[in-house]
Amino acid sequence: MRFTTASVLALAALVATGSHAFAPARYTQQRVRRPLSMSTAEAPADAIDAERKPTKKEKRLEYIKSPTFHRQGFKDVRESVERSMGEQFKSGLVDELKSNNYVIKKDGVTVHLAKDFGFCWGVERSIALAYEAVEHFPGKKVHITNELIHNPEVNDRLHDMNVNFIEKVDASTKDFSTVGDGDVVILPAFGASFEEMTYLNSKNVEIVDTTCPWVSKVWNTVDKHQREGLTSIIHGKYAHEETVATVSFCEDYICVKDMKEAEMVADYILNGGDKEKFLKHFEKAVSKGFDPDTMLNKVGLANQTTMYKKETRAIGQLMQKTMMKKFGPVNAKDHYQEFDTICDATQERQDAIHDLVENADELNLDFILVVGGWDSSNTAHLLEIPQKKGVRSFHINKADCIGADNTITHRTMSGEIVTEKFIEDIENKDREVVMGVTSGASTPDKAVQDSLSSIFLLKKMSSS
Ligand code: SF4
Repeated sequence: MRFTTASVLALAALVATGSHAFAPARYTQQRVRRPLSMSTAEAPADAIDAERKPTKKEKRLEYIKSPTFHRQGFKDVRESVERSMGEQFKSGLVDELKSNNYVIKKDGVTVHLAKDFGFCWGVERSIALAYEAVEHFPGKKVHITNELIHNPEVNDRLHDMNVNFIEKVDASTKDFSTVGDGDVVILPAFGASFEEMTYLNSKNVEIVDTTCPWVSKVWNTVDKHQREGLTSIIHGKYAHEETVATVSFCEDYICVKDMKEAEMVADYILNGGDKEKFLKHFEKAVSKGFDPDTMLNKVGLANQTTMYKKETRAIGQLMQKTMMKKFGPVNAKDHYQEFDTICDATQERQDAIHDLVENADELNLDFILVVGGWDSSNTAHLLEIPQKKGVRSFHINKADCIGADNTITHRTMSGEIVTEKFIEDIENKDREVVMGVTSGASTPDKAVQDSLSSIFLLKKMSSS
């Protein structure tokens, strides 16, 4: 399903539950100046509150109220942005596939398209807001604190529009020295850390926040954990931008990247163990001063929105069982809480490729192509589904990955980029190639079209 920019922005307001209903915090926001190069791990000085220290959520909501903080886009340029997004990202071939019950035959290739694929509304909204910002502030220097989304074409477009990507000095530090008075700073779809928001709030800049409301929903969840005295267990990759932002809104947290790490945590809860070894393993994935002996007694689960949903659910069940074993079935609810933070778009795309995989034999699929940025977590998880079922599958980031010599350069599940022979028996003109295709939530349809066109041409040239 596709949305107009206006409907995407309206939907965003619905998902961002609770934020508008929040009562104003009882403190005076102090403007603070930070050094131009700041560590995202360091919290800048807080506003002073005589009565109590505001929570990070309260502070974030305070920043949002500033007249220089923009979350709803700019109506004056909406129509022209909608038009240019259509021209850049839409695909006639993908539209044809959809209107033809998701199947097409062309030049000796049959393509089955997954029923849900490509741009999610959160990504469309983020791109629309960023493009609108560039058009709405002509002549101003525009920066972005990270890649807008994990897609090379979209980020290249922003480079072409002279948007400055704020550089990382190292894994946890960015160089904000290029941001000057009166500039515009865009926050990407997966959000910005609390420290970055605090820093930018202290500067004389226009902030355009394109954070997906599903991501802010996760931030609201970790805030609930804090208020209820729970340590947040976050199913996510600690170095992923979204998780970096999420943990910055936590007090006590531990990130687990998969079931294996969740089992280590569960085992520690039940049996204790070598604390030093445990902390060494999770050294980059826990809050400062984390003590597993005292901080794992009451936990709540949240996740990076693009993780493999079945794994998040399984981790939730594991934690629930662990607390039941340790504290008994009646008391377990006081020690474990779970709020659903898996985003619908991620879930729908995973379900759709799952359907393709289930029908791979019946459809005679030679392989499944997954198109999306190599840094894109949600796209990488789409690859896991056919790979785990033994269906030949490839994750490419753009059409160039398909070589005229019948090779394909792709990213494996372990993150390696490899080149190998692509289509078997391609020279045989009597043998049709049958393939499945899907794309990640940050992938424009145009990228799918370009990839398919390369395959049609490859087959045509090889078997003529
Ligand atoms: S995948 Fe989900 S969380 Fe991520 S941008 Fe899209 S809608 Fe938002």
